[in-house]
Amino acid sequence: MSLIVQKYGGTSVADLERIRNVAKRVAKTYDQGNNVVVILSAMAGVTDDLIDMASQICESPSKRELDVLLATGEQTTAALLAITLKNMNYPALSMLGHQAKVVTDCTFGDARIIEIGTEYFIGLINKRNIIVVAGFQGCDIKGNITTLGRGGSDTSAVAIASALKADLCEIYTDVDGIYSADPNICEKARKIDKISYDEMLNMASLGAKVLQIRSVGFAKKYNVPVHVRSSFTEEEGTMVVSEDAGMESLIVSAVTHDKDQARITLKKVHDQPGVAAKIFSPIAEAGIVVDMIIQNTRAQGQTDLTFTVPKKDFQAAIEIERKVADEIGAVDVLGDKNIAKVSVVGVGMKNHSGVASIMFNTLARENINIIMISTSEIRISCVIEEKYTELAVRVLHTAFGLDKED
Ligand code: ADP
Ligand code: ASP
Ligand code: MG
Repeated sequence: MSLIVQKYGGTSVADLERIRNVAKRVAKTYDQGNNVVVILSAMAGVTDDLIDMASQICESPSKRELDVLLATGEQTTAALLAITLKNMNYPALSMLGHQAKVVTDCTFGDARIIEIGTEYFIGLINKRNIIVVAGFQGCDIKGNITTLGRGGSDTSAVAIASALKADLCEIYTDVDGIYSADPNICEKARKIDKISYDEMLNMASLGAKVLQIRSVGFAKKYNVPVHVRSSFTEEEGTMVVSEDAGMESLIVSAVTHDKDQARITLKKVHDQPGVAAKIFSPIAEAGIVVDMIIQNTRAQGQTDLTFTVPKKDFQAAIEIERKVADEIGAVDVLGDKNIAKVSVVGVGMKNHSGVASIMFNTLARENINIIMISTSEIRISCVIEEKYTELAVRVLHTAFGLDKED
């Protein structure tokens, strides 16, 4: 008898009709003789609506209370699915994060899972119960409700699958697998049958939000096989597994984009030791993750320094830097939220030259200006104006020979 963990994303549980569809899938897997644990997201759009509602009360609502509020989205769907399954005469039981003993640190809004207590859980599964867990949430050691960051129910699913030593973790979403670019903006994107944890980690870190990055880290660490597939079709999706010899190692295997970035520039910073530390230490203390950093060439002992942060942290970061600018004598602080990062990714890039020049030439041909560039052994990223994102993804996908055959 296998234990299968199934996670259903927001679009898969968007209304009662879809919840019934999920219940049928769960029941089918159960009837095939498997034990099933289900992890659910909130209905599509609900988490955003809850955030909006709280921000109508004040600009920065208490993070603790916001987590209590956001957790209700997943509480609703978990209960509705359990009610549906029970109504179909299946022994279902819903559980919130704390009932499922998902213990996290106390970083509200972006908590990390520390451990999952499995004893009670396993007892129930062995009695053939179908456990429906509210994803995206846990609780810290003091019993406070925490959430795991946007897209976090993927991480709930993989972490629970690994704690329960499940045979498979299925991630059901609105696309039928992982593609060489977001299939919703690049119709020539190709479905990937099998992808390594490392390659998927790269893609997720560069904006391919089909899986939350932490879920892939978990899957890799604990070797959990993950099957990403659609809840609307029967088609096989993409297996995310350890690298094996049979895997293709293309020079560029995917094009990703990330619209969740904003840019901040400090103008005319004194070019001397310690200045960068003064600029970035308070950002780090505020728990803001900086992605790209560029320091321009110096002129008359002064330099411009530009960096990117997640859009949600833009306001906080710019306020911090205005204070820093006063302290260090920078002339101005500028910000821009209308940017996006497009990246080409591939482990095969390590041993090849010329990828950057193809990327830059391709963007130039479309008259897309590159605002920032960063590279590593296995990826090249360019920051561009947000309005060109879709165009950039499509032309790069073609330029690197990734388009599917018609
Ligand atoms: P869910 O609500 O099911 O968790 P998400 O919206 O979080 O779904 O993730 C699925 C979405 O990820 C797809 O609708 C697609 O637009 C996006 N996506 C981005 N990059 C990729 C990619 N390379 N392959 C597949 N989907 C991708
Ligand atoms: N509902 C949460 C979100 O929208 C978690 C998830 O869907 O994975 O981010
Ligand atoms: Mg998601």
